Amino acid sequence: MTRKKQTVRDAPPRIDRYIPGEIEPRWQARWEADRLYEARRDPTRPKFYFLTMLPYTSGDLHFGHWFPMAPSDARGRYLRMRGYNVMFPIGFDAFGLPAENAAIQRNIHPKEWTYKNIDNMRRQLRTIGAMFDWRREAISCDPGYYRWTQWFFIRFFQNDLAYKKMAPVDWCPHCNTTLAREQVIGENRVCERCKTPVIKKDLEQWFFRITRYAEELLNFEAIDWPEPVRLAQTNWIGRSEGARVRFTTEAADPIEVFTTRPDTLWGATFMVLAPEHALVKKLTTPQEAKAVEAYVHQTLRESDIQREAADKDKTGVFTGGYALNPVNGERIPVWIADYVLPTYGTGAIMAVPAHDQRDFEFARKFGLPVRPVILPPGVEAPDGTAMTEAIPAYGAMINSGPLSGTPADKAIERTITYLRQRGLGDKAVNYRLRDWLISRQRYWGAPIPIIYCPEHGQVSVPEDQLPVLLPDDIEWRPTGESPLKLHPTWKNTTCPICSRPAERETDTMDTFMCSSWYHLRYLSPHYDQGPFDPAEYDYWMPVDAYTGGAEHATMHLLYTRFFHKALRDLGIAEGHEPMLQLRNQGQILGPDGLRMSKSRGNVVAPDSLVKAHGADALRAYLMFAYRWQEGGPWNTGNVQGVVRWLNRMWSLVLGAAGAPPSPADSEKAKGLRRKVHQTIRQVSADLERFEFNTVVSGLMELTNAIAEAREAGLAGDPAMAEAIETLLLLAAPVAPHITEELWSRLGKPYSIHNQAWPQFDPEVARVEEITLVVQIDGKVRDRITVPADITEEQAREAALASPAVVRLLAGKEPRQVIVVPGRLVNFVVGDQ
Ligand SMILES: [Zn+2]
Ligand SMILES: [Zn+2]
Repeated sequence: MTRKKQTVRDAPPRIDRYIPGEIEPRWQARWEADRLYEARRDPTRPKFYFLTMLPYTSGDLHFGHWFPMAPSDARGRYLRMRGYNVMFPIGFDAFGLPAENAAIQRNIHPKEWTYKNIDNMRRQLRTIGAMFDWRREAISCDPGYYRWTQWFFIRFFQNDLAYKKMAPVDWCPHCNTTLAREQVIGENRVCERCKTPVIKKDLEQWFFRITRYAEELLNFEAIDWPEPVRLAQTNWIGRSEGARVRFTTEAADPIEVFTTRPDTLWGATFMVLAPEHALVKKLTTPQEAKAVEAYVHQTLRESDIQREAADKDKTGVFTGGYALNPVNGERIPVWIADYVLPTYGTGAIMAVPAHDQRDFEFARKFGLPVRPVILPPGVEAPDGTAMTEAIPAYGAMINSGPLSGTPADKAIERTITYLRQRGLGDKAVNYRLRDWLISRQRYWGAPIPIIYCPEHGQVSVPEDQLPVLLPDDIEWRPTGESPLKLHPTWKNTTCPICSRPAERETDTMDTFMCSSWYHLRYLSPHYDQGPFDPAEYDYWMPVDAYTGGAEHATMHLLYTRFFHKALRDLGIAEGHEPMLQLRNQGQILGPDGLRMSKSRGNVVAPDSLVKAHGADALRAYLMFAYRWQEGGPWNTGNVQGVVRWLNRMWSLVLGAAGAPPSPADSEKAKGLRRKVHQTIRQVSADLERFEFNTVVSGLMELTNAIAEAREAGLAGDPAMAEAIETLLLLAAPVAPHITEELWSRLGKPYSIHNQAWPQFDPEVARVEEITLVVQIDGKVRDRITVPADITEEQAREAALASPAVVRLLAGKEPRQVIVVPGRLVNFVVGDQ
């Protein structure tokens, strides 16, 4: 590009208007042509892998999508100027329900729809002016990508981390597919995507053994992740300590239970199985068969939340079978009831009505015995027949045979020892976490690379035959069956072992499988010898900072940690965690304060905004107007404040360009320099802490200080040149285009984004101090040290706080306060 030369040095420069629409595309093209943001391995510089969550290709890119990206980009740019070799990649999470459902709604083939969206989103994302390294773009529905998703699946399958089993699963009747537990949300148990209530279905499904990593996933020591995410994952994994106890039965195998209260074992007066429990059929006597069958049928139609609701009237039926309480040999009846879930513990409980409220209500309703076996301190010995509610507190053991009298703090431990010595049970840990269900009966996903041979059963597709391609010619509209199953030929293949006819698996994978490893594909998106180039892995991994929404806490953010640990154990990856630091941004809502959505009609589209205000203003607005961690409703009117700031910076910088050098008042120059260095310190610290709003307000203040200094005659002072240069460098991460343009117009070397971050000088930033004399009725009572630029009000407050003044005034209100700036404060209290 050409630059107008300043020929007449003493004439005021003619300042043209700030037109972002002219500046921004020009610099974006230049940066791309110069490959400014391509991140290459460079062992001489510290690396920084800055990852922001990749968007879905559902086609409704709205302005909220800029919120995680633009501030992250600013922070990445800052680190780059600090000397880090920063990689900031982007890609598309292109498989899965969001894209497929959107395509179905519009009656377009999902593939066509997805790639069309990617083209549009890519164009829109470029207008942000982010330092995305587009060379590293990865798209999860590209065969070159999902070849390796399938390769990972095969590694998991070969190492017993992937398995298929018949299971009652959550089924969305609208999306016509199974869902992972994490995708079923809310009290009403609705589908995360379409909000339809889910139902239970028995299906053969593929699972990943995430439960094998339950304990390790509870350890967050190596990572700096936000407390709410750690808490959500901890609760989701749901670890509890207790005991496993075996109850023998008369008609079937022993019933195993997990209990957190083994100390109440002598009070177990009946047992309750989940209606789905495997032993129900065997235990049920012919007399009770009809009632049991009816009850089981009824339960399958209820949701887990309905079943667990505390205020729900207890229901259940007796199976006719009995078990033996292992500690006292008592014959106790076995019931089934919906309040026991098949997925928690073993799907069976020992019921201790005296010490568990739900068991108590059940016992009262069906006339079952209540026997207190725990006596908490300060409670009178309870009477089982008179009790009106359970006593859940801990206490000394009573009515517990040889363990009666055991104090509360020893009760659990002694009971476990008692059980272990007799071979009746042992200490155990239980997790709420279930294995990750990854089969989907949908079209738009990576095919599961498994072949079924009549002779050899489940056989994985040989690696040299990957990818198993998803066919284009298919009925992709959902029918409730896997579309791949209905394809006339696709599923027909031969067994890799015996070459006889065999059939392919027709389910596809959960899209969360694709996103569990996308950060690895960014390392080398075109590499074809493995999922990633090991040399790139060694240099860039782990991810140093990761930004995105907290709504993924128990899904993507848990899956990707599991995935990494599994890869580590398979010798594919190194280290224990994939992402060292995580920060979650809030959400930009519609102008009405509600979540942006097409159906509400409150979507703020980026294209028209960029056209109206420019990317720099929008970037700065997003950082300035919200606390990044919180977000808030969109307000177009407020963008004007940021636009005014950029215009002010524009005319200030270009106006200063022509001033002849002339050192001015050295005290005022010192003041300006102090402000400059204070701003360097503040903006750097706030970028480090992801506090973007104060970054922008700090830059605005500095701009104002520069304007005031110019008014005060500092235009030609060297301090002014330093201030303007520093302002541009500090603002470069926030507003990369306007700063590049102004930098260039000042005749500085291209590019501003390759300059070093300004050095902070604590000596210059230091606030100068002076001594103020404090008088009462004209007599000197104290001397106090205060900042030189203190206001009269602040001086009065500081003097009032002096211990001598406090003592001498003794609560008296001075009649008058005289402040002589820079010299003294006099309190007038005496008579006139
Ligand atoms: Zn659904
Ligand atoms: Zn075979």
